[in-house]
Amino acid sequence: MSTPLRGSSPKVSFYTPGVEDFEHEGEDGDGHQFTYRNFMEEDKRINSFTFSQAKQDQQHTFQRIILTNENEKDIAEYVDVCQELLKAINLRNRYIFHPKIWKEDAPPSDRPPYNPFTTAPSQPSEHTFKAVNGVYYVYANEQDELEDKPLHQIYSTLNSYYKDINRLMQFCSDGPAKTFSFKRLRLLESKYNMHILLNDSAEIAHQKSAPHRDFYNVRKVDTHVHHSSSMNQKHLLKFIKRKLKDSPNEVVIFRDDKYLTLSEVFKSLNLNVDELSVDTLDVHADNNTFHRFDRFNLKYNPCGQSRLREIFLKTDNLIKGRYLAELTKELFEDLEKSKYQNAEYRLSIYGRKMSEWDNLAGWICDNELFSTKVRWLIQIPRLYEIYRETDNISTFQVFLSNIFQPLFEATRDPESHPKLHKFLQQVVGIDCVDDESKFEKKFTEKFPVPQEWTSEHNPPYTYYLYYLYANLYTLNKFREEKGLNILALRPHSGEAGEVDHMAAAFYLAHGINHGINLRKTPVLQYLYYLTQIGIAMSPLSNNSLFLTYYRNPFPVFFARGLNVSISTDDPLQFHYTKEPLMEEYSIATQVWHLSPCDICEIARNSVLQSGFEHNVKSHWLGQEYLNQNKNDIKKTNIPDIRVCFRNETLTEELHLLYKSLQLSPKFKELDITFLNSKLPVEITSPQKPKPVQTRKKIVVPVQPPPLSLNVSAVDQKPSQH
Ligand SMILES: [Zn+2]
Repeated sequence: MSTPLRGSSPKVSFYTPGVEDFEHEGEDGDGHQFTYRNFMEEDKRINSFTFSQAKQDQQHTFQRIILTNENEKDIAEYVDVCQELLKAINLRNRYIFHPKIWKEDAPPSDRPPYNPFTTAPSQPSEHTFKAVNGVYYVYANEQDELEDKPLHQIYSTLNSYYKDINRLMQFCSDGPAKTFSFKRLRLLESKYNMHILLNDSAEIAHQKSAPHRDFYNVRKVDTHVHHSSSMNQKHLLKFIKRKLKDSPNEVVIFRDDKYLTLSEVFKSLNLNVDELSVDTLDVHADNNTFHRFDRFNLKYNPCGQSRLREIFLKTDNLIKGRYLAELTKELFEDLEKSKYQNAEYRLSIYGRKMSEWDNLAGWICDNELFSTKVRWLIQIPRLYEIYRETDNISTFQVFLSNIFQPLFEATRDPESHPKLHKFLQQVVGIDCVDDESKFEKKFTEKFPVPQEWTSEHNPPYTYYLYYLYANLYTLNKFREEKGLNILALRPHSGEAGEVDHMAAAFYLAHGINHGINLRKTPVLQYLYYLTQIGIAMSPLSNNSLFLTYYRNPFPVFFARGLNVSISTDDPLQFHYTKEPLMEEYSIATQVWHLSPCDICEIARNSVLQSGFEHNVKSHWLGQEYLNQNKNDIKKTNIPDIRVCFRNETLTEELHLLYKSLQLSPKFKELDITFLNSKLPVEITSPQKPKPVQTRKKIVVPVQPPPLSLNVSAVDQKPSQH
């Protein structure tokens, strides 16, 4: 909080915005004038960024929180910590794939800038590619391949990656780093609470001024939802009953050397259509699933039967996934009706066979599955150890090749996988899923490369993530070069299990799902804040699996300014209504007392985190949505005050980092590109102070003496109204 007094207690007057040459009667010995403003400007102990914003910003006159008497000694104490923070951020920026905006000039619209089921004919290019030590590299032509001159390199090797992870993990447990990050996070939270205390009515008033817009009609994206559980239990039950009534004699499955019709399947399971209920369906998570991911996984089987899952919830079965396609179309209709809700559904690619991609793309294209409200992500379950036994996957490289080779082929020659090529337009990212709480065998020796990974043990999370990242990196470079869309890496991370999962994701991922374990590691949490990595959180899912609702860190993360969105994860297991995303928002709003501004901010975060195309985001959030200082309240329904507060707070944190680094003797050698790109130029390259000019004395016109306040004098004054 601002305390304008200091030791010598000069005469202070308050600065009035808009009055440039405000003068005060008090002049000190040098003829130097004291105003509140230059008092603040000259006092270096005042953290001046927010203050200078307050001065310049005539438009948003909300109550800002200004910190004073910043102690240089305190800042100096954390120079080493700040250097490490910067190093971690710089490393992330070197690892991560920085995409260019795809189809930047497409006009803003609800529709994507492509036709989902037709593409222009294209010729195969001369490129070649091959996997070297687990990573596919692209070469301009065969000659380059022979000379081993790949077009793109990735930043690290597996070894240097593990060194970087270890270093980050060490830093996360460093005492001063923990103290510093913890304090900063607490301060961020307090600042937010203070901001709400002081400005909530102004925020609400501003929101009301936005015509037409309210929480219902701001765009929101369900940023994390698994497709095979994206319908609620009632929906699935109705669908199953309808199928049993309408087409009981349809042959749907081949089991135990026999083709079975739908009614035969139910007969063999002793299930009667009239007796089916949500209870017998038994797909909802309950008390028995808490900390039991294995039991939770079994909930995907309707009535506990894997054959019903195969018939109704799989894309690749005897009926070619027709039932799931019909269900999907019904989900699309629900989304169309709700108009402002959108979803990013996850479909699985397992890595058992190379034909999986073509089958999946065939399912999408043959059933014409497209909605302007839906984009797809591909989830890759970490199940290598199972396929190793059952599917003749002899090494981890075979698993990786099954996943990536078709993507490189389709990129080089779209005609070689025409349906996959079309489908990939709608795919916005790759996810990596499974139970993070599983025990991971830590190898004492160095990790073998994928073609030498023959062990019966599953590689650890960090190993999976590295190879997904590395292959996606070269693939994306390749796709970008060919004018195609890219796929972001948005894995599940920090739902359970060890902290190194989130450290790996910090370096490699564009966004993560869950992240609740960040609550245990202040340093990583602070890094996620500074870099504003998107976190798609699902408090209701956590409540059934790993963390009860009242202990969920979502409201704290949100208050601190982490880039969080709300998502449903598995409506089949956790939700009750036709609008699971609204259900999720509704519960969060009521339990955590979120304001209308809060939920609109969360909704905007969800759009920003999502993989919807640039022209769609422009349509939803306003054409300047990429500029963090711009806000179109007519689209977002977020008051400018809130956007200013968030931006100024983040800038203050980065400014603090900058100030601290400046105290380092090595400041000149540091790579501060990141800070330069985020901080305003006034901070990073301040102009030298101009030589003091004697101000022109302004001649104030002589005013008549004020009228004495007696009744007759007031009466004589002409009316002002
Ligand atoms: Zn999930």
